Amino acid sequence: MAVTVFLKKIGAIIAAVSAVILIAFTVYDGVFNKSASKDFFAMDTVISAKVTGKDSDLCVEKIEKLVTDLDGILSRHSKSSEVTALNNGVPDGMISDRLLGYLHTLIDISRKSGGAFDFTIGALSDLWSFGKNPKIPDGQDISAALTVSGYEKLSFEGNRVTKPDGMLIDFGATGKGIALDEIRTVLENSNAKSAVVSVGGSVLLYGSEKVTVGIREPYGNAGRSIASVDLNNTCVSTSGSYERCFDVNGKNYHHILDPETGYPVDNGLISVTVISESGVITDALSTACFVLGIEGGMNLAEEYGCEAVFITADKKIYATEKVSSEIRITDSDYTFMNYES
Ligand code: AMP
Ligand code: MG
Repeated sequence: MAVTVFLKKIGAIIAAVSAVILIAFTVYDGVFNKSASKDFFAMDTVISAKVTGKDSDLCVEKIEKLVTDLDGILSRHSKSSEVTALNNGVPDGMISDRLLGYLHTLIDISRKSGGAFDFTIGALSDLWSFGKNPKIPDGQDISAALTVSGYEKLSFEGNRVTKPDGMLIDFGATGKGIALDEIRTVLENSNAKSAVVSVGGSVLLYGSEKVTVGIREPYGNAGRSIASVDLNNTCVSTSGSYERCFDVNGKNYHHILDPETGYPVDNGLISVTVISESGVITDALSTACFVLGIEGGMNLAEEYGCEAVFITADKKIYATEKVSSEIRITDSDYTFMNYES
């Protein structure tokens, strides 16, 4: 996972786990401060939920159900999901209000990012096959995948979606953030006091208690951080070129693709972390800002009122104004740079 989270309280650790643990456990700290936590696998990643509050154990169960159900809608790797049906060409192109709502949100982000974020490049991602047998695709295949991609090629008429044959919609850059936004609603409705929920590289910090969030060391141990910041009541997402990648002749090929060229983004960045109240915005913008690079990414983060931290391959750290004053560099190999727009 790209973001490591350290609870300040008595060494409680909600960091990513390398194995899947399907056991829930409950700790009693008085009736109203009961904590429950659970790690489970969904959305192609490990999900870790820790909730404190009167009904924390029930809340953790609800979170697991919510994420599993959401995966059943958004996953394009599940045969029975609604997105798979849409990608395969649902009869009449009719989709649910829920999926329609998500698509409209993503179209807006795609537009505002000038197409740097584009959720219609599933055919292109499949060619690179980062999840299974990654390989550099044939240039002609990349061009063909690009001709069926492009969010502007989608059209809507009520709940009816029309898309080019072969276009594959991919929630890989946003499903985790969408999950966090919906988990927040579950927490509110369950009167939870506080919670830390991590879904892959995206984390929700719920409640007023400050939590120290570390940005992971890109090249080394996922548990080591190079910088940290104390946050509450927010979401944090990181996109990094060290996730889902492979090397050919010493060159790194990774899963964040430039929708214009069809190739992995190669702009000197290795990770972008975005902080915002909205999970879907942090998740989508970490990807978009990675594609846009420092200057374009800074502008997009500002447009959305988000904070962002950019880490470069030559170990420099750039950040938006507010987070610049709060971030602590914890690895002396990295240098904080003042960004002048
Ligand atoms: P993330 O780790 O949130 O940055 O998401 C990366 C995933 O989003 C990749 O594995 C692809 O499934 C998908 N993706 C890659 N490049 C883009 C892009 N430019 N816009 C939208 N989704 C992308
Ligand atoms: Mg993302």
